[in-house]
Amino acid sequence: MNLILSEAYQAFLVMLIVFLITTSLSIIISIKIASSITIPLTELTKIADRTKAGDLSSRFSYNSNNEYGQLARSFNAMLDELHATEEELRINNEDLEENRKMLEESQTRYNIALQSARDVVWEWDLIRKSFYASDQWNALFPGITYSETVQKVAFEQVLNPEDILSFYNEVQELICGRKEWVLFDFSCSNQNKDKVWYQIKASRITDITGNATKLTGTVSDQTFQKETEAKIWELAFIDQLTMLPNRTSFKYKMEEEIERAEKYGNGIALFLLDLDNFKRINDTLGHSVGDILIIEIANRLKNKNLDVYRFAGDEFAVILSGELTLLMIEKISGQIHEMLLEPFQYQERTIMTSFSVGISVYPEGGNNLEKLVQNADTALYIAKEDGKAKSVIFNQVMSEKIMKKLEIETVLRRAVKDKLICMFYQPQFSPKDDSLQAFEALMRIQLEDGTMISPSDFIPVAEETGMITELGEWSLNEVFEQIRIWTLSGVICDYISINVSGVQLRQNNFAELVYQIAQEKQIKPEQVEIEITESTFMESSDKNLVLLDKLKQWGFRIALDDFGTGYSSLQYLRTLPLTTLKIDKSFIDSIENNKKAESIVRQIIEIGHEMELCVIAEGVELEKQRDVLRRLSCDLIQGYFYSRPLTLEQTEHLMKT
Ligand code: C2E
Ligand code: MG
Ligand code: MG
Repeated sequence: MNLILSEAYQAFLVMLIVFLITTSLSIIISIKIASSITIPLTELTKIADRTKAGDLSSRFSYNSNNEYGQLARSFNAMLDELHATEEELRINNEDLEENRKMLEESQTRYNIALQSARDVVWEWDLIRKSFYASDQWNALFPGITYSETVQKVAFEQVLNPEDILSFYNEVQELICGRKEWVLFDFSCSNQNKDKVWYQIKASRITDITGNATKLTGTVSDQTFQKETEAKIWELAFIDQLTMLPNRTSFKYKMEEEIERAEKYGNGIALFLLDLDNFKRINDTLGHSVGDILIIEIANRLKNKNLDVYRFAGDEFAVILSGELTLLMIEKISGQIHEMLLEPFQYQERTIMTSFSVGISVYPEGGNNLEKLVQNADTALYIAKEDGKAKSVIFNQVMSEKIMKKLEIETVLRRAVKDKLICMFYQPQFSPKDDSLQAFEALMRIQLEDGTMISPSDFIPVAEETGMITELGEWSLNEVFEQIRIWTLSGVICDYISINVSGVQLRQNNFAELVYQIAQEKQIKPEQVEIEITESTFMESSDKNLVLLDKLKQWGFRIALDDFGTGYSSLQYLRTLPLTTLKIDKSFIDSIENNKKAESIVRQIIEIGHEMELCVIAEGVELEKQRDVLRRLSCDLIQGYFYSRPLTLEQTEHLMKT
């Protein structure tokens, strides 16, 4: 029993020991196994927590080929991806932030621009039926408020009732897409009752289907622009002195009238009015008085209810259109002349003036603007020539006359340029003994082909164009030079006579010029006779007298040419410092067989002699005329009977022989 018991006990011990060993081994193994599972999970949990907290830098370091190793790689890959996404997000976020700032800045700028803009910026939402306008609205339309939600558009508050319909028509065009944008001008009176101009600018915003959803645009104050435009218009079309429409307006109106005349057969009469003697008024009373006179005349023209324009300096144009008759044209021209019958009063002065009027009638007097003006101008020229204060209606004959004048002007300019001017000399003889006494220098244009142009043709043109000054100075130099040469060669006659135009006398210091040239050429004043015509003295002034007095005192001879042809007045003989009197050819023409003519010439010679003047008869062509003049004791004779005007060579030959 004991043995059995001890054996059993021993067996029990062994079993207990085995049990204890296996149990502790199991526990150790279990713990080992459990920890191999929980450690990676714990680490994973920690990393997951850290990731959750935003740390994407931790990695699951588990290197094994088992499921945990697999899980670790996948988890790390996921973290890598997350990290990359986060980086991308961060960059995007930075960009977004920058854009937001820029947007904010531009919004600020836009607001500043809106506030400082003079224009109202508006938006009209067609869907929500709302209206927005920038604050500038209050500045532009003080006191006029509008509701942002009302059906009626705010513009109705400011537009004139009569403009509203046409404004909506425009808006409709815009909404339908028939117009891309609209400009709408309107005006109204502001609180000070001044007229203010506005302009609404509108364009539309559409949805993707192309339907207009909004209209947007600006309203601007256009008053300054309108006023500037009006001023520019005024400057372009209104003459600023007289406030009459100017030449540009005239041109447009004429073109309009001509177009109408072509279509409907209307008549047009163009009147060109030119003041007579305006230059003299300007010269004697000064330009400011001239201006006052022009304004006064313009006012009188305005009062006549004529379609009148300021054409140039002292020229006005009147357009008469419609169904015209000669009687109507004459009536208007009569009115124009009557208008200036009443003199103008300026301070203590009474100013008398008159109009010369040239008229051209469409289509005979030209079928276009240029022709009508040109022909009216031609008629005006004839009116002036005809003694002023007249109206002349253009006809074709005039045009030819003027063409000839223009031709002469062209030739004259060329002659001056190419030095085709020369002097001829016509001798003057004493009828007592047929002895050569003097010469008159006469100007000629001799063209290359030998054609000779008479001074009667070109001197008036030269006077009109002012070229006479240059011609006159040239002739003084030329003749004085000849006198010098002839004197040196010892063949000089008493003197050489030289014609001087009234225009030259008006030249400044003309007397001094003559004296100076004579000195330069070293000739004596007594060797020169200055010929002036009576007509020069029609316009004479004290200035002319002073000038002639000077010349005479220096020793120059002074002849009154063409005596008897002008408005001769014996008065001149008394007042002018003359040495010579030249009886015009017209008195000589019938002297040989007409007792009256002879008697007149006798009396002229007697008066001349009584005043101690040398009397010359001009244009003596016949021996009988010479005989009569010899009998009447005429001092000198000039004419074809003795000699025609001679060339330089012929003159020298005559002098020598
Ligand atoms: P004028 O001074 O009375 O000159 C006389 C004109 O009568 C000259 O004409 C002369 O050729 C012409 N004549 C002379 N004798 C006779 C005659 O017997 N019968 C006829 N039928 N005519 C005769 P011309 O040379 O054609 O000059 C015309 C006018 O032109 C001159 O008239 C003068 O007023 C002007 N003139 C000529 N040369 C000059 C000049 O150098 N300067 C200026 N300012 N005028 C000039
Ligand atoms: Mg003469
Ligand atoms: Mg003469």
